[in-house]
Amino acid sequence: MSEATHNLLPEGLDNFWMPFTPNRTFAEKPRLMVSARGMYYTDAEGNEVLDASAGLWCVNAGHYRPEINAAIAAQLEELDFAHNFNAAHPLVFEYASRLVKHFPDNINRVFFTNSGSESVDTALKIALAYQQLRGEGSRTRLVGREGGYHGMGFGGLAVGGIGRNRRQFGPLLPGAAHLSSVLDIERNAFSRGLPPHGAERADDLERLVAIHGADTIAAVIVEPITGAGGVVLPPQGYLERLREICDQYGILLIFDEVITGFGRVGDSCAANRFGVTPDIITTAKGISNATVPLGGVFVSDAVYDVFQSAPAGVELFHGYTYSGHPVACAAGMATLSIYENENLFQRGRDAEGAWLDAALSLRDADGVVDVRCHPLIAAVELAPGPEGPGTRGAEVAQRCYHRGVWFRNIGDILVTSPPLIITDEQIRQMFGVLGEAIG
Ligand code: PLP
Repeated sequence: MSEATHNLLPEGLDNFWMPFTPNRTFAEKPRLMVSARGMYYTDAEGNEVLDASAGLWCVNAGHYRPEINAAIAAQLEELDFAHNFNAAHPLVFEYASRLVKHFPDNINRVFFTNSGSESVDTALKIALAYQQLRGEGSRTRLVGREGGYHGMGFGGLAVGGIGRNRRQFGPLLPGAAHLSSVLDIERNAFSRGLPPHGAERADDLERLVAIHGADTIAAVIVEPITGAGGVVLPPQGYLERLREICDQYGILLIFDEVITGFGRVGDSCAANRFGVTPDIITTAKGISNATVPLGGVFVSDAVYDVFQSAPAGVELFHGYTYSGHPVACAAGMATLSIYENENLFQRGRDAEGAWLDAALSLRDADGVVDVRCHPLIAAVELAPGPEGPGTRGAEVAQRCYHRGVWFRNIGDILVTSPPLIITDEQIRQMFGVLGEAIG
């Protein structure tokens, strides 16, 4: 076994500044993963745990796919790196043409990035540049939604709607505004799939238009299903209504599909699954099965065409050294082949009954105030315990871990988005363990 894969705790945990982690206390009880196969991780103590989160909503084809590993190794042998700034390597074009076939018909361009945050910031910049090019330069305002998560770049943070993520960082981008959340536990608790009430929440965009003027608004960005904000599903008809209002006022609609893209909701993307086509779709995570950092921003023909009217030369002054990195493209191509060959984008539809039945079986468990579920994503929300918000959720997640299932808790909300290779039996097992842990 190589040194890099040895199964021991590292000597010191002092030098790596961990993201989104209480660094001062992590070392008291470090949880370290040392290997992963299929649906399971193995931790440094030798425990095997079912991965209820597909890593961080990203390992959609399951862990350790030899085809992807081989493609990465082969690419490194052939061409380790070539940039794509006014020169390129052929694979990036081939990959792009394969990818766009999985997105709505009028979306035929993809701009490559290295992460979801970069995808979001790229999409926001494309929206601003688009408005300027078509003579609407006053449209500089970007609209997000309460509870939304769009990564940690300054753009994504400005449109993001999770307060604690924003508070340390000053004023962010000027002029961002937010739609109100679509979470409505009172009317929609324990809905089976998309909730029935709340399409009219999209009219909140009219409120922002009335306050700020449509001529100041460049784009609206929403996650079709809010993920990190606690899994909030769009009410039936909500996304359609949002699309209509955006069209009415010349506002671009961006779907942040960093989580919902690549099979999470029973299709290649939520736009296809829900039949609502935005102007721009941001992706990352599942695009490469999380093996190599990669993201893609998918842009409609109508938006892309406007860039053809730009003055001669570079149409968009934007790009990353690693936009379309050959190794990432190779990993992405191999990942896409797995999705296609194993029909994994269909998995959410095939598992629909098993998923919804298992998730909703927890509705009567002690202290459960809501279950929000759409195959293959779900949240089980608990009433806070007597020690205050978050403690109960963390305890339940801990108990699940000891029973062999690694759930993430967002405060008192237990969330799950497993690899799409999960069997119906594993779905029942996973929710069964959660039920026991809550009980
Ligand atoms: N957008 C959404 C909807 C996400 O869920 C995330 C990450 O969870 C991001 C953007 C940011 O992605 P990354 O962490 O790859 O920058």
